[in-house]
This record gives sequence, structure tokens and C-alpha cells, in this order.
Amino acid sequence: MIEYRINGKTLRIVIGDITEQDTDAIVNAANPSLMGGGGVDGAIHRKGGPTILRECTEIRERQYPRGLPTGEAVITTGGNLKARHIIHTVGPIWRGGKEGEPQLLARAYENSLRLAAERGLRTIAFPAISTGAYGYPAEKAAGTAIKTTATHLQENTAIEEITIVTYTHEDYRTHAKVAEETLGDTHRH
Ligand code: ADP
Repeated sequence: MIEYRINGKTLRIVIGDITEQDTDAIVNAANPSLMGGGGVDGAIHRKGGPTILRECTEIRERQYPRGLPTGEAVITTGGNLKARHIIHTVGPIWRGGKEGEPQLLARAYENSLRLAAERGLRTIAFPAISTGAYGYPAEKAAGTAIKTTATHLQENTAIEEITIVTYTHEDYRTHAKVAEETLGDTHRH
């Protein structure tokens, strides 16, 4: 585990399973349908139970009949998970990097954080959005994840603790390296 202190708050990188995080919110790497899928999405719905899908169905009907656009985020309860809420966001599909992917990935992080902060949530855990089925290169995605989360902690919002949950040792090492390059040793705890 690596921890950085930023503006009196914590940015942490761990190896683990996003569905096991005991935080106010976990973020789901969803797809526009909000109806579940593979990877993180599948694991969250499997473990979290049917309430989550019911809430997602309501959001689709009420707010997003054509699906949740890339970069946007919505919130449901955590169902049977330890996390109290789930923030569902859609990262971009990697198409070579010239179709706005970096901006869209940053928006997915920023909108998730904004939504959590608006609800007064203090702790939030992210998976490495877009780096699975959506094919975003791990190191590039880690750069965006670390920059957007660190920038949010510089602001004065409700969020006090952000955890980036990597799933493999390789992804953990990539994030650790990018964090050191981006944030340096200064804030390392
Ligand atoms: P996307 O469709 O946005 O690419 P995926 O769920 O396919 O989302 O993958 C995102 C990242 O999450 C990948 O790096 C994958 O290895 C990782 N991952 C898969 N399952 C879990 C899990 N249970 N907890 C944390 N990370 C996970």
C-alpha cells in the first residue's frame, strides 16, 4: 500500500477487490446501459444483489433513457456491499487516444468525485476505469487517475480519502511508479 498526504487528506493505492472496500462509495466501471456487464461491473452486481439493478433501471427510465453518456456518473445505494453507495460512471473505450479519450477519462473521475462530494461522502474507492474491456493503456490511465484524484484533494470538498484499487500486482506497480513520477516523494507517507 502507498499513501500520499495531500492538503491534509489521503490518496492511497492498494491491491484488492473493489467490491470488498468499506468506503462511503465505490465507483463502478459501468457501461452506458447501466444493466451490468463483465469485469468490475459484473462483480459489483453479483455481490451487491438485485437492488442495484433496480435502482439503475429507474435511473435509466427517469434520467437517461438512451444510456449514461461516457464521462458522466450516477449514484445508487451499495445494496449488500460494505460500501454505502455505488457511483456508476462510464469511461471511454480506447480508440488510439485521438478521440478525446484522456478528457473523457478525466471527466469520469471528476464527475464521480463531484457527485460523491455533493452527497457529503468522505471516502471513495476507484478501480482502474477503462483499463479492462475498454482497452485503455494502463500507464496512461494511471496518469489520469492520479492527476484527477490528487487535484480534487487540493480543493476543499467533503472527500477526505481516495483509494485507487488495483487488481493485479502489475497494475499496482504501474500506479506506484506513475504516482511517484507525478506526485514525487514529498507527500509520500
Ligand atoms: P472497463 O470496461 O472500464 O475497462 P473493466 O471492469 O473491464 O472496466 O476493468 C477495469 C479494471 O478493473 C481492469 O484493470 C480490471 O483488471 C480491474 N478489475 C476487474 N475486476 C476487479 C475487481 N473486482 N476489483 C478491482 N478491480 C477489478
